[in-house]
Amino acid sequence: MTSPAMTRAEGGLLTGKRGLILGVANARSLAWGIAVEAYAHGAQLALSYQDARLARKVEPLAEAAQARVYRCDVTQADQLDALFGDIEATWGGLDFLIHSLAYAPASALGAPYSEISAEAFAQTLEISAHSLASLTRRAAPLMLNGGGGAIVALTYLGASRVVPHYGVMGPAKAALEASVRALSLEWAPRGVRLNALSAGPVRTLAAAGIPGFKPLLKAASEASPLGRAITPKDVGRAAVFLVSDLSEAVIGEVLHVDGGFHMLGLAGLG
Ligand code: NAP
Repeated sequence: MTSPAMTRAEGGLLTGKRGLILGVANARSLAWGIAVEAYAHGAQLALSYQDARLARKVEPLAEAAQARVYRCDVTQADQLDALFGDIEATWGGLDFLIHSLAYAPASALGAPYSEISAEAFAQTLEISAHSLASLTRRAAPLMLNGGGGAIVALTYLGASRVVPHYGVMGPAKAALEASVRALSLEWAPRGVRLNALSAGPVRTLAAAGIPGFKPLLKAASEASPLGRAITPKDVGRAAVFLVSDLSEAVIGEVLHVDGGFHMLGLAGLG
């Protein structure tokens, strides 16, 4: 794979900021959409991915964004410690972090909710929600070296509304959003802000694992007041706002980037 062309403007919103973006699987990942916009706005980046098989896809992207690249499974404390140890040794601090990762065992996605096993439930919540606390515990002290920072977690409407087939990811996203609030209460007084960005459906690797994703994408695109599907660029631009100084007073928020779909009472009757 060849490296994509990237553009960077002078005087961007993130000039001088150093950011770690977790959850890049390929060029369709929301994490990559965020990286492209953060780079365009002047950020210095580090990217991370989990699966060794993805190195071939992620390394050309990292090269294009002049980014450091790490392999890290967020459930492995030694890998997390190594990642943050290297960031501290290299940069001496960190200004923002993007949590753009989630996982549920295939058996638990689309299964009748009452049949989801305790093991599948626990694994989904550990990776998709508790990881935010593990990351914040390590990132926040580095952010305080530079006077503060911002953390953004990617969530979905299934946290607060029932979405067919979303299954165990619904409670995982609800826990993630609640974690954003709990961690904000703990860290915001010291200068580290957390927010959630609730994206509308976008065709990615993770989305492909959700049974019935195609009709969900079609319904959301057609019913949303915006009248089109959400793109990684839409998500990236909103993320830039949330980690920039423009959102200094925005804390514990769930910002919907879904073309207005979340506000509808009855979709498709407008
Ligand atoms: P994606 O490209 O497949 O990204 C998901 C990432 O999570 C992958 O890089 C995956 O790595 C990583 N991950 C899974 N388990 C991990 C672990 N134990 N440690 C570290 N990383 C792990 O899909 P995406 O749609 O961009 O998802 C990014 C975030 O956006 C997720 O939180 C998702 O729920 C959220 N979101 C997506 C949509 C959508 O429609 N696409 C809408 C709203 C919110 P592996 O591939 O190696 O497992």
